[in-house]
Amino acid sequence: MKKLIGIDVGGTTTKIGIFENNGDIIDQFSIVTRKEDHGSHIIPDICEAINLKLGLLDIDVENILSIGVGLPGPVDSKGICRTAVNLGWSTVDIAGEFKKYFDLPIKAANDANVAAIGEMWKGLPEPTNDVVFITLGTGVGGGIIIDGKLVDGTTGCGGEIGHITIDHKHNFMCNCGRTGCLETVCSATGIVNLANELLEYRLDTKLLAYPEISARLIFDLAKENDPVCVEVVDEFARVLGLACANLAVISNPEYFIIGGGVSAAGDFLLNKVHVAFMNQCFANVRNTNFALATLGNDAGIIGAAYIGYLNATK
Ligand code: ZN
Repeated sequence: MKKLIGIDVGGTTTKIGIFENNGDIIDQFSIVTRKEDHGSHIIPDICEAINLKLGLLDIDVENILSIGVGLPGPVDSKGICRTAVNLGWSTVDIAGEFKKYFDLPIKAANDANVAAIGEMWKGLPEPTNDVVFITLGTGVGGGIIIDGKLVDGTTGCGGEIGHITIDHKHNFMCNCGRTGCLETVCSATGIVNLANELLEYRLDTKLLAYPEISARLIFDLAKENDPVCVEVVDEFARVLGLACANLAVISNPEYFIIGGGVSAAGDFLLNKVHVAFMNQCFANVRNTNFALATLGNDAGIIGAAYIGYLNATK
């Protein structure tokens, strides 16, 4: 059986995994992402590291089926990455660049989309082809998979769930320059925004005892029934549940998978979002499942390996 290579390019490090084609990992390693010179060293560095590793593992390139790549920026369905600020890139033809080193099928996609594919392939308790993955970190990212296929969209913005316009109550500024985006309320930053709004006039909270507040602290105190933190978490859950209710009648997924740093709050968070979803969704999608992401940082390389596999075997 031929093997798969999955690459997760990040702003500081790039993770590379070599897999059997059933997803079993053979080896994984990281290299530094060199962003100088407009990121022009990034792909050559990756290809050199792969060649070196394949040599050490005594695996011939002939025995590699495909390469998949996840990138911190939008990638369109033709594999063109348009502006990855974290890598110093403007427009880069990913497959074209890799082809200079490897004559293999190459598939690239946005990193959140790739993580979505990874979680669908290896993270869930049962196989499915219809998933919406939402990653709650500093921002909110996501990936929509319909019938096993990622929704990239014409300019690679399919699944940019963080910028769903949904909030008309708080009007926090988004990094994209607008207000009302999902991530202004449901990211780690957004949760702190919500708390700060209440702290302007509320005194009934332990948050006042901390010099700095974080989403983690807010969830921890909410679990202890701190009134302000419970209110913040309920508002977070209401807005995220509403976004899921809307997404459920667009792609009708079997699973919503919630990942990212904020999801460390676990079942407490998941149950609140699920209840908020049930309260706001169309009746015929009420049986949609909610699950926490399980692959952590490995979702990127696993998903990348799988998009490469799907592309090579389509
Ligand atoms: Zn936005």
